[in-house]
Amino acid sequence: MKCMICKTGETVKGNSVVTLNRDGMVIVFKSVPAEICNNCGEVYVNNDITKNLLDTAEEVSKSGVQVDIREFKAA
Ligand SMILES: [Zn+2]
Repeated sequence: MKCMICKTGETVKGNSVVTLNRDGMVIVFKSVPAEICNNCGEVYVNNDITKNLLDTAEEVSKSGVQVDIREFKAA
């Protein structure tokens, strides 16, 4: 699809790193499936995956971990 940020690039499928901050906790997901703009590098993650990331972050924050780095796994 056409990039919504720079409006000139095209997005291509790839894997990205997504970092979430939550109440001082940092969680990093590696290998997240995403569409990435070939011009400006903007990353687009679909809604299902975003929800998965947020749910995981919620669970991790309950465990009291401050920093967590993990491979993304689809539910
Ligand atoms: Zn772009």
